[in-house]
Amino acid sequence: MAISTAPVLALRIVHELRGAGHTAYLVGGGVRDLLLNRPAKDFDVATSARPEAVLALFPGAGQVGAHFGVVLVQDGATTVEVATFRSDHAYLDGRRPESVTFETDPRQDALRRDFTINAMMMDPASGAVLDFAGGRADLAAGIVRAAGDALVRFGEDHLRMLRAVRFAARLGFSIEPDTLAAIQALAPRLQQIAAERVHDELARILTEGSARRGVELLDSSGLLTQVLPETAPLSSLTAHLLQDFPTGADRLPLALAILLHAAVDPALALTRLRCSREVADRVTALLAHRARFAELPAMGRAGRKRFLRMPHFDDHLELHRRWCAATGAPLAAYDFAAAHLQQDELFPPRLVTGDDLLAMGLAQGPRFKELLEAVETEQLEERLATRGEALEFLARRHREVI
Ligand code: ATP
Ligand code: MG
Repeated sequence: MAISTAPVLALRIVHELRGAGHTAYLVGGGVRDLLLNRPAKDFDVATSARPEAVLALFPGAGQVGAHFGVVLVQDGATTVEVATFRSDHAYLDGRRPESVTFETDPRQDALRRDFTINAMMMDPASGAVLDFAGGRADLAAGIVRAAGDALVRFGEDHLRMLRAVRFAARLGFSIEPDTLAAIQALAPRLQQIAAERVHDELARILTEGSARRGVELLDSSGLLTQVLPETAPLSSLTAHLLQDFPTGADRLPLALAILLHAAVDPALALTRLRCSREVADRVTALLAHRARFAELPAMGRAGRKRFLRMPHFDDHLELHRRWCAATGAPLAAYDFAAAHLQQDELFPPRLVTGDDLLAMGLAQGPRFKELLEAVETEQLEERLATRGEALEFLARRHREVI
């Protein structure tokens, strides 16, 4: 048992809570990942101690919604959520319980959790696992199964439907048939969930595990039509484009560009999804330039260099490569590796500035940018290389206009 990988802080909290006479366990995703021998992102603690008692034991801890009984204990950059055992009641908004009852029995707390594999608790002292929902068997079988009646559980909190896909995509698990059927039945209810929450889950589905598997599960569960109608039903081309997609939060724009490659109005989809401006701009640029790789041989020197130095060029290139692999289109005949090495050629030093233009008697205006860009074009074309040549070029241009 790889207990030693559990962050020290979570273990210390459990130890101190027990020392004060409370029941306390590691719980949730941390236990799941520990049992899978995967690095856990974070550890949560569940305890019989009431929030006030937890706060008293850990001065400086913060409460998040005392109502829900969660206390955040922090040590340096590490934060552990300490939640009082509870049962949830009356989910009226399809997302959060109207009220909770604090419990002293860990079983109640386990059974209100979303999936069997997320409902286990562990005694870090002995490594013993409390498994009230059958999580261990499902973990061994590679199954995401709702804890309890799937229709009821997804009816309470609709976001759990996306969480099911996220865990299946991340862990390479399948979704248990009754659980999948319940998602298929309730998928339209996703419309009731705040778009920001949906965005976060979708982003994680696309970047934390197998993106292709995630999207295929979204499709087969009926969630894709709700989240990204532009991509539903999933085409084999799109699935192919997502083959062996790398993980990492920074890959979100590329994944979204692939999903939206055939959309009539990708910008609308990005807005609806509440993508950040940065992500939306990156997706838009990826889509706008995808087909330009074929034009590379015909581009002039300056045009090619400007193309190669686009921000996030690696993503553009990756999309091009994926596109060619999926469609059989020829790869652009160009040595990108060599181009990468020649950063100084792509970003030549600035030879002249607006001050030079002012000194030549030009008044500030839109013409400034035009002239400076023209100088850079000459530089990129390798027709001039020194400040003297640049000033001469400007003087010539200036005279021509006058
Ligand atoms: P991750 O590895 O992505 O952090 P996780 O399983 O730890 O996954 P969290 O969102 O961190 O997921 O939540 C911690 C635990 O809280 C879950 O394992 C689960 O037991 C419970 N939980 C979280 N969200 C819900 C929910 N919407 N409904 C029921 N239980 C939930
Ligand atoms: Mg977690």
